[in-house]
Amino acid sequence: MSSPPALELRGLSKTYGDNKLTALSDVTLSIRPGEIFALLGPNGAGKTTLIGSVCGLVKKTSGKVLVFGHDLDEDPVRPRYQIGLVPQEVNFDPFFTVAESLYIQQGYYGQPRDEARVKEVLAALNLSHKADAITRALSGGMKRRLLIAKALVHKPKLVFLDEPTAGVDVELRRDLWNYVRRLAAEGTTIVLTTHYLEEAEELADRVGVINEGKLLLVEDKRTLLRRLGEKNLIVTFT
Ligand code: ATP
Repeated sequence: MSSPPALELRGLSKTYGDNKLTALSDVTLSIRPGEIFALLGPNGAGKTTLIGSVCGLVKKTSGKVLVFGHDLDEDPVRPRYQIGLVPQEVNFDPFFTVAESLYIQQGYYGQPRDEARVKEVLAALNLSHKADAITRALSGGMKRRLLIAKALVHKPKLVFLDEPTAGVDVELRRDLWNYVRRLAAEGTTIVLTTHYLEEAEELADRVGVINEGKLLLVEDKRTLLRRLGEKNLIVTFT
């Protein structure tokens, strides 16, 4: 029997508030285990809402979300232990050290304190020398690395990266791309959102284009690039 998709969305919709702003409209999508999938779209397209609906930060209006075949309506907690999220915004307590914030994250995912794993993740993200630093004293780039470490310390099988390279320097962007490739090579499924076609081109196996809450197309990367070239369609969203 073939394994279920890492992520399956069936008719996922979200409207916000009384003015019924439709942030997601009937999104259906299936992502294979081990795939790198890029969701490309401009500001306000619905990318963060889609991620939030899967990760439990946004309450969907309708539709289904399945993580490795588990329907989140039936069990909203355990399937999410397999998910890691790198959010756009820095969201850690500024008074803990880097290492402490990773131990807290392990606890949050129901795991025992695992010093070897924390050391491994810190080393992978070039953060070992900052293990005892207070997080608020980190530079912006180091904070970004810590966000990624936090998302990965519990060894998730499905990782969401929400605009991971927005506003980062060239070195961090390169490190991050290499790290994403390494994770995927180890079998982790990656879903990343981006405004940059270049980033989707570098990393993704398939690309979905989203605008105004609608998933407009999903293509193998090469097919998408060919179609964009032929039709002289949009190239970057800024
Ligand atoms: P960006 O690239 O700017 O991060 P995005 O593609 O991630 O954009 P979302 O943040 O998902 O887009 O927003 C989709 C739409 O939903 C936008 O019109 C946004 O203003 C609206 N929206 C998002 N969060 C809320 C909220 N909490 N309340 C009301 N409207 C919201």
